[in-house]
Amino acid sequence: MILRERMLKIFSSLISYLINDFLIAQFGAKKKFIMFRCSSILKRLNLATISSRLTSSNATPSSVPYKSLKSDDVSTPTSIPQSADVVIIGGGIIGCSTLYHLTKLGCTNVVLLEKDQLTAGTTWHTAGLIWRLRPNDTDIQILNHTRHLLNDVLEEETGVHPGWINNGGLFIANSKERLNEYKRLMTIGKAFGIESHILSPSETKKLYPLMNVSDLYGTLYSPGDGTVDPAGFLYIIGSRSHEIWS
Ligand SMILES: Cc1cc2nc3c(=O)[nH]c(=O)nc-3n(C[C@H](O)[C@H](O)[C@H](O)COP(=O)(O)OP(=O)(O)OC[C@H]3O[C@@H](n4cnc5c(N)ncnc54)[C@H](O)[C@@H]3O)c2cc1C
Repeated sequence: MILRERMLKIFSSLISYLINDFLIAQFGAKKKFIMFRCSSILKRLNLATISSRLTSSNATPSSVPYKSLKSDDVSTPTSIPQSADVVIIGGGIIGCSTLYHLTKLGCTNVVLLEKDQLTAGTTWHTAGLIWRLRPNDTDIQILNHTRHLLNDVLEEETGVHPGWINNGGLFIANSKERLNEYKRLMTIGKAFGIESHILSPSETKKLYPLMNVSDLYGTLYSPGDGTVDPAGFLYIIGSRSHEIWS
């Protein structure tokens, strides 16, 4: 139920931003009046979340979306626990992932403190690329585990698709040195069971015909990588943690 409410909130946020951007682009100065009209209609349709977002004073062209989310949707808890076994500070992807893993390990007395609202930090801005071939073992293992959660675990646990798209990753080398670095990453990846291939410019062109490969030395292709919607991912693991301990 909580998950469904969260998903509805994310969905309504998205719709409201789209409407807001459309109105700004189409009507400029008349936007306020049109927003008021839309807002009344939405209220009548009982889509209160979208409606309140549209009338929010923060919904201006210059505002970052999460600022309007902040003012509308965050309900300040009336109390916080006096004690906890673990206190996590920060509700970005790292904090929520820590919460998820601790609860799966059996910790139930865990508190996550967020000064703003979940995803309010860097996590909101990320492009969401899951690229596992990094230059150190720890990063590789964390990313490999994240990919495993997205690909094999979360949908089964929650019934909600986490927004994971396994479209593969392609890293481009425009110098010999960079290509050598990619060969090294491919070797490290092998040690962790991550499939990857060094492709020549013509092989790259076959894989991705839209790319101009005339100035490339080659690419590193990792078919198991992909992208994820970071906010959706965060809400799923946050809600799942809550389900586990309640
Ligand atoms: C433009 C851009 C693109 C990116 N693209 C990618 C990508 O494609 N792939 C990738 O893997 N990474 C990418 N990253 C990096 C990735 O976004 C970050 O590594 C990740 O989001 C960091 O998460 P976090 O939880 O550590 O921090 P944050 O998401 O910043 O979360 C920290 C949270 O802590 C809260 N907080 C801070 N201080 C306090 C306090 N005192 N009390 C309570 N709460 C507090 C903040 O409000 C915030 O919500 C990108 C980053 C940027 C900026």
